[in-house]
Amino acid sequence: MKVKTRFSPSPTGYLHLGGARTALYSWLFARHHGGQFVLRIEDTDLQRSKKNISDDIIADLRWLNLDWDEGPYYQTKRLDRYYSIIHQMLKTNNAYKCYCSKERLESLRQNQIANGKKPHYDGYCRNHYTSNSEYKTYVVRFCNPQEGFVIFKDEILGIIKFSNRELDDFIICRSDGTPTYNFCVVIDDWDMKITHVIRGADHINNTPRQINLIKALGADLPIYAHVSMIFGCDGKKLSKRHGAIRVIEYRNEGYLPETLLNYLLRLGWSYGNQEIFNINEMKNLFTLHAMSKSPSIMNLKKLKWLNQHYINNLPPEYIAKNLKWHIEQQNINVANGPCVEELIKLFGKRCHTLKEIADTCHYFYEEFYDYEPYAAQKYFFEQLDIAHQSLHLIRIKLTSILNWTLLEVRNAIHSGANEQIGGIRVIAMPIRIAITGSIQSPELDVTIYTIGKIRSLLRIDKALIYIEKYQHIK
Ligand code: GLU
Repeated sequence: MKVKTRFSPSPTGYLHLGGARTALYSWLFARHHGGQFVLRIEDTDLQRSKKNISDDIIADLRWLNLDWDEGPYYQTKRLDRYYSIIHQMLKTNNAYKCYCSKERLESLRQNQIANGKKPHYDGYCRNHYTSNSEYKTYVVRFCNPQEGFVIFKDEILGIIKFSNRELDDFIICRSDGTPTYNFCVVIDDWDMKITHVIRGADHINNTPRQINLIKALGADLPIYAHVSMIFGCDGKKLSKRHGAIRVIEYRNEGYLPETLLNYLLRLGWSYGNQEIFNINEMKNLFTLHAMSKSPSIMNLKKLKWLNQHYINNLPPEYIAKNLKWHIEQQNINVANGPCVEELIKLFGKRCHTLKEIADTCHYFYEEFYDYEPYAAQKYFFEQLDIAHQSLHLIRIKLTSILNWTLLEVRNAIHSGANEQIGGIRVIAMPIRIAITGSIQSPELDVTIYTIGKIRSLLRIDKALIYIEKYQHIK
């Protein structure tokens, strides 16, 4: 059997982590088996679906590098096919028109709730056919079997059993003429020859309905695998409250697609204690049997740790391309400073995200006009003499360098430190603040070396003037 899976988002909401993980599992399963992966947009709910959202979902999948072999199919472009089957089902009495008014359905619902029953349609129109009702609006309902059970084996959750008494005659076509999700999904999986339906566990209640429909149509039953939910660290269903959940927000926050894929893979699937998986390993090792049955808990610390790993281990040119995008979001012109690959060496061990690097690297590319207030107060003003002496010393040492190399810069700093009581511990901070404006930066020698001689000396002069002005005012 040639494996064929699909990812079929409804464009009613953006691609979030749960959806991306389902897409990844479906994609990996197909790739592992040398099969095919289909992308299908389930957009028949006209009121809730938005075209720009489907475009964004597609862009997000592309960003994650989850490629598809067929599609994107749009259900709204397949309406004729759905109508012809609905028509056939009405003819063969597998479906019926239901004319029940909203008021009747609402009072039925209220009565059922009042009597402690689960609200469900009572099959009124299945039993009371009225031939002259054609003029009123109607929905089409599927004749769900009224007795017996639906039993299926889920590849992750095991044997699942539903009683048909709990399933009502669900709507397959709305009164506005649009076919519903539970109907279209069956026709599409059948037509597209989907062998494995891998989707979120929130669909588990739909599965018995779909199985009954598949049987009524004489279609092939796919194999099902329902993936457990993702919870926030507080044990509640993942939502905005837990921070970014839309995939693209993670890119904006400076995460790499490799990080997200690796993180999502492990969130619900394991292979011994291994944490890091490249794409080829993922494809080779992925099986549904190693999936967790219980919900997964989001762990932001781990996500950051993984991202730092990838920042330091993927090819620098690739990271640089992504980092450049982030730096440009800050309106910084990278032509005015070191090549972006240099920044990865400088910040890779200090930062967890590309955005963090972009947010702190500005002093390599442009002048700054302010010092961090806390830094200036503590290391300039509260120790004026030390600051003054340290900056003077380093100014002299750096000026005398003829051949600007990292070693020479390092020697200059050490030689300055040797001439100052308290040594490097005392001189480092005023110099760092003068050069970067802040108390945090990569190692001082590399920072000064990378910023260059002229720029570094100008900044030291600027800091000296700043301190002298303060002295004067005092
Ligand atoms: N369109 C459904 C959703 O976005 C997915 C349905 C399925 O995978 O069967 O939740």
